[in-house]
Amino acid sequence: MLQGDRDEMKEKSEVFLTDTHAHLASARFQGEIEGVLARSREAGVGRIISISCDLEDVTANLALASTHPGVFATAGIHPCYVHEPGPEGWRDSLRALAARPEIVAIGEIGLDYYHPPEDGSEVTVWRGLQESIFEEMLQLAQDLKLPAVIHSRESTPAVLAVLGRFPEVKAVLHCFTGSPEEAEKALAAGHFLSFTGVITYPKADDVRATAAVVPLDRLMIETDAPYLAPVPFRGKSCEPGMVRHTCQRLAEVHGLSPDEMAQVTSANAERFFALSGPLLGAGAAVGLEG
Ligand SMILES: [Zn+2]
Ligand SMILES: [Zn+2]
Repeated sequence: MLQGDRDEMKEKSEVFLTDTHAHLASARFQGEIEGVLARSREAGVGRIISISCDLEDVTANLALASTHPGVFATAGIHPCYVHEPGPEGWRDSLRALAARPEIVAIGEIGLDYYHPPEDGSEVTVWRGLQESIFEEMLQLAQDLKLPAVIHSRESTPAVLAVLGRFPEVKAVLHCFTGSPEEAEKALAAGHFLSFTGVITYPKADDVRATAAVVPLDRLMIETDAPYLAPVPFRGKSCEPGMVRHTCQRLAEVHGLSPDEMAQVTSANAERFFALSGPLLGAGAAVGLEG
């Protein structure tokens, strides 16, 4: 057996966490990214999907993903950024970048009915713009055969209606805080649901009740870092390593050990995003790889 095969087997049996939604391109992590990734690895995180909100993010996330094993990128326009997705020609640029191998999904995309219109327009106009960009992004996902990372805020029924027009696209509804009934509808349509640190908040019994109805093979976990730090870090800047607290709480909800939940959610993420390759920090200690 070759050394490489043995290393791969060791890696496969290793329990690790997958943070399926972090914003590593955020200004809050600027100049700190190596420390953030090292702390994430120490906390047991093996893979991070770094999510984009606009064209600038896509470029930054691609740079991170191409230089760090275990970091993957997405390409997409967040519903709160549809008025300023990028400079002139952003569509062509986005389409070209989304075809790169480091891009594992189109996202985050969707509908946000919570925040008021960012460009001061009428609510109906703003929501119409969100929906047209959301549809364009789903078409891109379908064309590139990529899954989609969905942002929905006070908009789950509308989001599910739009997703229904793109039955070929698999989707994960990130930071899911909807009701058990909404969860059932999303699950019936074949989608995955992902939970953040919100599930650790003392008052979030409703979110825990929703998480309890999600079958194990449709669950994912995430931080949404730098936002939504879980208990006991609430109010502080959130890092991917904190996903272990979300994993622990979700494990309690489903009556599993934290290790079992880490394995279940990492296997789901691997399947959903078609992830492969070395884990976070691989090659860093010996300096043999890129
Ligand atoms: Zn979001
Ligand atoms: Zn996000």
